[in-house]
Amino acid sequence: MSIAKAQVLIVEDEPEIAELIEFHAERAGLRARKVHSGRIALEVIKREKPDLIVLDLMLPDLDGLEVCRRLKQSEETRNIPIVMVTAKGEEADIVAGIELGADDYVTKPFSPRVLMARLRNVLRRGSVVEEPAANADRLVLLDGKLIIDLDRHEVLCDKVKIDLTLTEFGILHVLAARPGFVRTRDQIIGSVHGKNTVLSSRTVDVHVTALRRKLGALSECVETVRGVGYRFSEGAIEED
Ligand code: CA
Repeated sequence: MSIAKAQVLIVEDEPEIAELIEFHAERAGLRARKVHSGRIALEVIKREKPDLIVLDLMLPDLDGLEVCRRLKQSEETRNIPIVMVTAKGEEADIVAGIELGADDYVTKPFSPRVLMARLRNVLRRGSVVEEPAANADRLVLLDGKLIIDLDRHEVLCDKVKIDLTLTEFGILHVLAARPGFVRTRDQIIGSVHGKNTVLSSRTVDVHVTALRRKLGALSECVETVRGVGYRFSEGAIEED
């Protein structure tokens, strides 16, 4: 999906924030429309099938998580990417939203640059439901500095093979399959579990620490998203 002319629906009850998002979206070449309630959003989305939804979580009638749940339950709307807009301290809601299938989030007050980077990323890669990298046999990341060979179960770091445990490999794979997208610990456990060992939230953190140590100079690509989970970062987006 190209950025230009993509249709974005902004679901936000605070007029100044809705206008700010609209302004930056239109400046980036998107077509934007605003609605101020969850119920109206569901009607408009069903009718117009926007390419992207920017969804505030605190809405007067139907909250953002419920809107997200309904959209992801419906065959017609489940592939439309969702970027949540949240307030500080709403980490539990962010986790819930991502596990419901929202693709990303920004926290208020957000910088327009971060917001637009997130929207672009989501538009470029489509919704999480499609799992685009699932069939690839190798992932080439960080301008070729990191190569994950899924057939051979090998990781090359600056052309040097590094030895990862099955769990470390699984965690790196689930994150790197969708760079820029946060995965919660439960999602990581869900993806890696069964392939080898039983994981808990706490052991995910331990494995990530070991994984980072083995990645050496590339360790910063596995980014901690405090209170939410982990993200594979190509260094393009910085929260400020
Ligand atoms: Ca609100």
